[in-house]
Amino acid sequence: MKDYEYAPADSPLMLLLADIAAEHNVPIDLHMEALPQTIPTPAEYGPPNPRELHGNIAAFEKLLAHNPRAKIIWAHAGSDNIGYRTPELSRRLLQAHPNLYMEIKYDPGFPGKDPPIVDGKLKPEWLKLYSDFPDRFIIGSDQHFDPPASAPLARAQQNALLLNQLPPDLRKKVATENALRIYGH
Ligand SMILES: [Zn+2]
Repeated sequence: MKDYEYAPADSPLMLLLADIAAEHNVPIDLHMEALPQTIPTPAEYGPPNPRELHGNIAAFEKLLAHNPRAKIIWAHAGSDNIGYRTPELSRRLLQAHPNLYMEIKYDPGFPGKDPPIVDGKLKPEWLKLYSDFPDRFIIGSDQHFDPPASAPLARAQQNALLLNQLPPDLRKKVATENALRIYGH
């Protein structure tokens, strides 16, 4: 697993990037864990990680509020290695920030603390969240080079497993329409 990196989401560079993204109508795709506050690094993540993990949600909300025309896609929805990227936190942020979008990630090899799918079934709290914000989720995977769909645990297959459990209208949005709108010019 990749070791720890931290960069504040509200640094001058990131705020400028949000302005540039808004000006050109290009979304920012942002990959990070959720940490409402700074915590001691969980024992399961030893060196070379630092002793503490920085809280990052307050800075993230400053970035979201900085330029409401900047579309920000927070990847890793459903992939939570620490325990705070919950449907509840996601719901609060989606309500507070209309320019926030989320990219669903389900990696059965590293399901994390609260995966959207358990034993092949989509969990009701995630389905409820997607349903309550049907225009704000896109299917992802975070897999940079997809293995063949025949490979065991290929994320593409897991995406299909997830999408197939959505009602048809919602499936169409999450699978294609939202991405076309968010990335469209
Ligand atoms: Zn990622």
